[in-house]
Amino acid sequence: MIEIKAGEMLLILTDGVNLRYFAPGERLPAKHQLLIGFEDESCLVASVRMYGGLWCFPNEGFDAPISAYYEAAKNKPQVMSEEFSKEYFMELINAEDAQKKTAKAFLATEQTIPGLGNGVLQDILYNARIHPKTKINALSTEKRENLYDKVKSTLHEIYEQGGRSTETDIFGKNGGYIPHLSKDTAGTACPRCGETIKKENYLGGSIYYCSGCQVNNIS
Ligand SMILES: [Zn+2]
Repeated sequence: MIEIKAGEMLLILTDGVNLRYFAPGERLPAKHQLLIGFEDESCLVASVRMYGGLWCFPNEGFDAPISAYYEAAKNKPQVMSEEFSKEYFMELINAEDAQKKTAKAFLATEQTIPGLGNGVLQDILYNARIHPKTKINALSTEKRENLYDKVKSTLHEIYEQGGRSTETDIFGKNGGYIPHLSKDTAGTACPRCGETIKKENYLGGSIYYCSGCQVNNIS
């Protein structure tokens, strides 16, 4: 989520919004939901995919059904920050209401961890060798700590390589990180164990996992 202050107003671009920069004189796309033109005639163009949102509201006194989502994104620690420590993560994963959730539900739903979505979830769980449907209460302390390490290291690796290869940056350039698990690797052999990588629909999105080395409900 990106927040831009514009005088008395706030402009918010949520995840799911594609933002592109166009230099002066560059040809602009015919379709978009928001176009911001600057004095030098460069432009920022935003288009919305799936659940993304463009919000604009006064700096003070924001109160709307979406405000809980906004507050969570703004106030909870981001994964890449130092505040997202092992102690903080262990508090989240050891909380009583987390125990009956599956790994995907815990990590990537209800804004428990803002910014961690279905797209990066797949490789985090692959690296941690945890099946997306594994219940949190089946994970030992050691596995919970290892999951924290994999959340950090996987997102760091994606960041270092300029994002996933399926996404583009503000200049339209594809990222350099090629995911282990994606629609491109579904049905192929896992490089780690040789079993087939599977795809299923689960909790409002596709999940990918290796049927050999991401074992369900092993503590
Ligand atoms: Zn495998």
